[in-house]
Amino acid sequence: MAGASQGMDNRIERTGIMLVLSSPSGAGKSTIARNLLERLDNLELSISMTTRPRRVSEIDDVHYHFVSAREFERRRESDALLEWAEVHGNFYGTPRDPVEKAMAEGRDMLFDIDWQGGKQLMEKARAHVVSIFILPPTMDELMARLHRRAEDAQEVIERRLANATEEIRHWREYDYVIVNDDLDRAFHRAEAILTAERLRVDRRVAGLGDFEEKLIAAKSGKA
Ligand code: ADP
Ligand code: 5GP
Repeated sequence: MAGASQGMDNRIERTGIMLVLSSPSGAGKSTIARNLLERLDNLELSISMTTRPRRVSEIDDVHYHFVSAREFERRRESDALLEWAEVHGNFYGTPRDPVEKAMAEGRDMLFDIDWQGGKQLMEKARAHVVSIFILPPTMDELMARLHRRAEDAQEVIERRLANATEEIRHWREYDYVIVNDDLDRAFHRAEAILTAERLRVDRRVAGLGDFEEKLIAAKSGKA
């Protein structure tokens, strides 16, 4: 759909990207993630597994795979999770199979995960990972957004705010940082990062080699 990802460049074979978005709760990463998924080609969401209760607006197997603590533990023990972490008192984890399949097929995946998960993915698959940390413009605005979202109980919001300071400290571990003051601008910056990363030579060595051969063959009349 988006112009940035169409055209000849899109047809040159390359390795898949694991686009990691992290932020303190309420900074806007899920909103930016949703916009990217709606507006860019060849990008799919990694649907996490969680023991957190489902919010009213959420659909099972679309936003998360909602599971019991026991089921989560079973998956973790059988190595079915590529990474996992305890966040705000609940467990969250990334199912391994869809990610391995996407990377093998050169498709890109988006991960809305916390810094602990981001760290594990960077340790396990650094060549694939492109990581972006989203910061709120102010703590007052972060608090206002958590209240405006109006999907969590007051005590849950307070717990998330209390954890925000610790989470914010992790921006240094990421490849890029975006301050989400204006949503449209933040989205376009995230889109620009992904567009540029898709064009990196190291992801396209094999595909560009084939492309070069065809270019040269066509020039000398061999094609
Ligand atoms: P996160 O996924 O980081 O917890 P969300 O994406 O759910 O955060 O955003 C929290 C709330 O803030 C939502 O109601 C969202 O619509 C709103 N929001 C996101 N970005 C902005 C922005 N730039 N300006 C104002 N409100 C925003
Ligand atoms: P929420 O409950 O608001 O949906 O998410 C709470 C936090 O957990 C967010 O920071 C979100 O990015 C993170 N999270 C969601 N899924 C995963 C996951 O699979 N792994 C990790 N490590 N964190 C996750």
